[in-house]
Amino acid sequence: MGKNTYNPYENMLEVLDQASNLLGLKENEYITLKYPERELKVSIPVRMDDGSVKVFEGYRVQHSSSRGPCKGGIRYHQDVDIDEVKALAAWMSYKCAVVNIPFGGGKGAVKVNPKNLSKVELENLTRRYTAMILPIIGPERDIPAPDVNTNAEIMGWIMDTYSVINGYTVPGVVTGKPIEIGGSLGRKEATGRGVMFITREILHRCGIPVIGTRMAIQGMGNVGGTAAKLLHNEGCKIVAVSDVSGGLYCNEGLDINAIEAFLAQDKLIKDYDAHGVSHISNEDVLKSEVDVLIPAALENQINEEIASQIKAGIIVEAANGPTTVEADKILERNGKKVVPDILANAGGVVVSYFEWVQNIQSLMWDEEEVNRTLEKIMIRAFNEVWDSAKSKNATLRMGAYMVAINRIVKAKKIRGLYM
Ligand code: GLU
Repeated sequence: MGKNTYNPYENMLEVLDQASNLLGLKENEYITLKYPERELKVSIPVRMDDGSVKVFEGYRVQHSSSRGPCKGGIRYHQDVDIDEVKALAAWMSYKCAVVNIPFGGGKGAVKVNPKNLSKVELENLTRRYTAMILPIIGPERDIPAPDVNTNAEIMGWIMDTYSVINGYTVPGVVTGKPIEIGGSLGRKEATGRGVMFITREILHRCGIPVIGTRMAIQGMGNVGGTAAKLLHNEGCKIVAVSDVSGGLYCNEGLDINAIEAFLAQDKLIKDYDAHGVSHISNEDVLKSEVDVLIPAALENQINEEIASQIKAGIIVEAANGPTTVEADKILERNGKKVVPDILANAGGVVVSYFEWVQNIQSLMWDEEEVNRTLEKIMIRAFNEVWDSAKSKNATLRMGAYMVAINRIVKAKKIRGLYM
């Protein structure tokens, strides 16, 4: 959807300026946030199964380390470019600040469609990419994690490569690992669980009962799928969902468990069939007649054209950057409440923080402790964002950015400028 004409980094800069103005900051106080601290571009040679060598482009961008080590995922996607990774890295700085965990922001990516690689090729790519970004990562420097098209298994290869090169096991170099090698219980579901907590909170604040609330979810990957399941368990009626292949609609509510089980067999939504369920387009999912819309796919899905046709009163951004700046203005004008990505999807990095804490202390938490502490942090952040927005009669996006920028700018000020 218009990816080529849209620059997420410029989107980030515009929002940064708006929120900094609301905070009454002088440009000098936040100018460094307009530039990533460090950008690394690597060319990754991979031996393919047929004996040929292919070279893939990869990146790791560190936006800010003012509040702690950089933190953020690695995505594998055929369309990524440096501006997208720069924006994603900046959003991680704000996300960690809004939930007040002691990290800065970073992001990595490899320009590849992993579905076109064999398992061996995927492992070779991951290990060589890790080796090439190795000088700038580490438990005290920059800690990667899963993102779009990457998973626990890939994080395990990153941990192993980093550890073998260093000569000892370093679990804290990456989060979202398999449990057996230092991953945290609850990490896989954490982003979706956080989306569920935040959706419940905004419904409470708007005086809408959770049970029976109609919802549409774009994206049924780890985040959208988990959010769908947990919200369904809370009694919400999920009437529309989609994946890359298309969407499903059922006015009485979809059988989320059946769809989950179907997708778990590596199948696509376009091939799903059940009584009372109709097939709709991905766009129709965004425009469906619901109370809550949860975009849980990629950036730039809600553009101006879609925004003006959205019927949901509440939008919870489970994806990173799903709404363009122009679309955001339309949603505001139409009285929609948008819970921004940097708050709504922060559950993943919060439990990544728990994983890192467990790793560096050689401790193991039980799942109940993980989920309870996650809930506490998400609700505290939601309330802070709500109050911040209210104090300036601004949107929740502005409220969240004000909380985040204020924390980062304060840290920068206390640390001073090294000359
Ligand atoms: N990729 C996730 C995000 O965008 C998680 C990052 C992390 O856990 O470091 O928030």
